Amino acid sequence: MKEDVAKDPDYDVVIIGGGISGVYTAWRLIMADNINAPFLKGSKDKKLRIALFEGSDRIGGRLLSARAPGFPHMNCEIGGMRYVSSQKLVSALIENELKLPRHEQDVDEPINIVYTRGHRIRSYQLSDPDVLPYNLSDEESEWLKQGNTGSDLIGWAVEKLFPKVKDLSGDDLEKYLQEATLDDIPLYHHGFWNILAKVMSNEAYQLAKTTVGYDSLGMNANAVNSIAEYFNFTPTVKYYLMNDGYDSVPWTLQKQFESAGGEVHLNSWLQAFEEATLADGSTGVELSVKNGKGQSSVTARAIVLAMPKRSMELLQQKGPVLDPVRAPHVRFMMNSVEPVDLYKIFLAYEYPWWEKTFVKAGRSLTDLPLRQCYYWGVEGREPGGDPENKNSMIMAYNDMSNSEFWGGLRDSPLGPGNTIEWPLPGNSKIKNLRAKSKAFERKPMPHAHKDEQDEWGVRLKKNWESHPAPHKMAMEMHRQLMEMHNIPDAPEPLEAAYMDWSDDPYGGAVHFWNSGYKTWEILEEMTRPVEDFPCFICGEAYSTNQTWVEGALQTAEIVLQKHFKLVEPKWLNK
Ligand SMILES: Cc1cc2nc3c(=O)[nH]c(=O)nc-3n(C[C@H](O)[C@H](O)[C@H](O)COP(=O)(O)OP(=O)(O)OC[C@H]3O[C@@H](n4cnc5c(N)ncnc54)[C@H](O)[C@@H]3O)c2cc1C
Repeated sequence: MKEDVAKDPDYDVVIIGGGISGVYTAWRLIMADNINAPFLKGSKDKKLRIALFEGSDRIGGRLLSARAPGFPHMNCEIGGMRYVSSQKLVSALIENELKLPRHEQDVDEPINIVYTRGHRIRSYQLSDPDVLPYNLSDEESEWLKQGNTGSDLIGWAVEKLFPKVKDLSGDDLEKYLQEATLDDIPLYHHGFWNILAKVMSNEAYQLAKTTVGYDSLGMNANAVNSIAEYFNFTPTVKYYLMNDGYDSVPWTLQKQFESAGGEVHLNSWLQAFEEATLADGSTGVELSVKNGKGQSSVTARAIVLAMPKRSMELLQQKGPVLDPVRAPHVRFMMNSVEPVDLYKIFLAYEYPWWEKTFVKAGRSLTDLPLRQCYYWGVEGREPGGDPENKNSMIMAYNDMSNSEFWGGLRDSPLGPGNTIEWPLPGNSKIKNLRAKSKAFERKPMPHAHKDEQDEWGVRLKKNWESHPAPHKMAMEMHRQLMEMHNIPDAPEPLEAAYMDWSDDPYGGAVHFWNSGYKTWEILEEMTRPVEDFPCFICGEAYSTNQTWVEGALQTAEIVLQKHFKLVEPKWLNK
């Protein structure tokens, strides 16, 4: 149904969602000199009127940096933590344009622990089939003995099926995979796990999964995208952490966007949007937005939805894009991706008790539900830190069914003392209907009185305090950390923070493409799902770099260059 607004719209462009893709889109648009998009022609102003609406009380979305008391020089990354040197957009944005400080992250150290099937070995032993508690085939064992590790088995298996992949990268690799077939069936119809099972033993698959660190890497996602993602990671890539936290990227973009005249509206949830006829006769958008003051109507020439699949499902399913009867193809495309959970918990201790076992940096691995344990650091060793301050942080990181394990130890939304809105908005799910757990009893951290309190520090502190871990969860994680390190008497944690990204409005931490879809076509089509209607979609969920900020920026650039007619950013090829 066409709404008759018959007045100039409130804004030229409204962006919904203040995650990295939304704030980046807003920033690129406000910084652009001349925008020639046909749907903006009616705008009389030289400078576009752009507004960013974010439902929560912060810009950043799935980037969530936090600082615990007693750690004035250390940032924890409860959401996305790092970028990779091969990721062109994000590295150019951070290094060439925003010039934000960053440092390399240690990931795999030879001395670190691999605790699997009840056996404890060190990373440097991963090429020795005789010490690995896995019943590998002779061929697999021989291959490991050539200096390869368990996690390399995935690449080895793929190369057996498609020998060409090792010589290709980037667009060439993607094109090859899009046209590849296996057993006379296009590769995109195959699940990644299904094809691996053809050429590697289940034991080798289990070993690879454990030592890659992510159960989801070997999940049965679309084989085209899984292989492309795997082979675009050469052994020479470097991982980078931001000195001020990954959250400093959206924060900097937000500040620059606002200084350039853009509007940011926090605590403002989009509920629905419809088409509207504007005063100049063109087709625009009428949005229904809910904030602390109630419901209001906002009009714009164009809308950008910078949000994941679940957030789109939570909107009222009406209008030219979301009404499943009017636009069944949009529903088809939305279903081409699957949210996957990643789980992180940070535990703070008075000193790094794990160093008794000679582990200090990077990560150790296990098949316990904690899966990956990052030795996040010791405050006194951070640049500028007080050497007397031994406060130490550990991060546990896992995904898929392991996240379900930890989800079972969180507070129940129905426990005594908790109230929930009923009926639930949209088709919200209630996941963990379990007993209410008491909150983790935070204990005073030594040196906490020296914490800095500038604007950025206050924000990071708030992020920590607003994500407390339940007591049961923190203590079970502590128990598994002790088991993994074979230390039965470690001191208890003093502070703990976590976030379950399967909660609404995210529905999952990251996304994977399902098999059966020509994902490279959907990716493009999703950026403007209904021809002739000025609604655009971007974000990590429907990208080829899913699970990464790079994917969020990549789809934002498609929206900006293909539909808003912006030129490629100058800083990209500096
Ligand atoms: C635990 C974890 C680890 C990760 N690790 C990494 C990593 O190391 N490196 C990396 O590059 N990436 C990593 N990622 C992925 C990365 O964080 C995401 O790809 C990226 O942040 C997604 O940005 P986005 O803009 O697509 O979506 P989001 O960040 O999800 O932003 C969507 C925004 O929309 C808002 N919203 C939703 N619905 C509405 C509505 N109706 N009205 C108004 N606002 C709404 C939400 O509140 C949110 O702020 C990780 C993610 C997680 C969770």
